[in-house]
Amino acid sequence: MNNIDLKAMTRLSYGLFVLSAREGDKDNGCIVNVVNQVTDSPLQIVVTVNKKNLTHDMILHTGRFNVSMLTEHAPLKVFEIFGYQSGRDADKFANCGVEARTANGILRLPKYINAYISAEVQQTVDLGSHTMFIAKVTEAAQVNSDPSLTYAYYQANIKPKPAAAEPNKTKWVCKVCGYVHEGEELPEDFVCPWCKHGASDFEKVEK
Ligand code: FE
Repeated sequence: MNNIDLKAMTRLSYGLFVLSAREGDKDNGCIVNVVNQVTDSPLQIVVTVNKKNLTHDMILHTGRFNVSMLTEHAPLKVFEIFGYQSGRDADKFANCGVEARTANGILRLPKYINAYISAEVQQTVDLGSHTMFIAKVTEAAQVNSDPSLTYAYYQANIKPKPAAAEPNKTKWVCKVCGYVHEGEELPEDFVCPWCKHGASDFEKVEK
């Protein structure tokens, strides 16, 4: 690992997206940062999603999903709803206002997006912590021309600023997504509830 500076990986550019699925009567979605077009004929995209997400299992079972492309106007609330909580305990789309369903019956985000894609899984690749879905685009639409949200923009402008929040408490901030854990100690087996990265990706912020 001597020749590997993991910080180099943070120079890759990513978007941020809400990945959604429907299984039975259950609608759910989560935040993902790896969505890319891989071929144009046939039109295919690739999505990777952490296996701990309920949305992951729903896509594995149904073979279908939507990608809602977030814009720079997406407020922190979108990340709190789709990132901080699990679809196992919450109806994430309940507070989204208008219900927007695509032809495949799956919800998409009605707001804070500039486009959406519906896709059908063609290949599933087990990557250990994540599964990669290679999928054929079955529907795609542009909603507006607002700028797409990048991970860098999120880090600079949307991610909570921990120091200002509760000045008298020790905090642990996830360097990946900005999730803040309050407490003197961070357990070694701690897993970020949002991005699922481990304790080694947390940085201590002294009170
Ligand atoms: Fe995180």
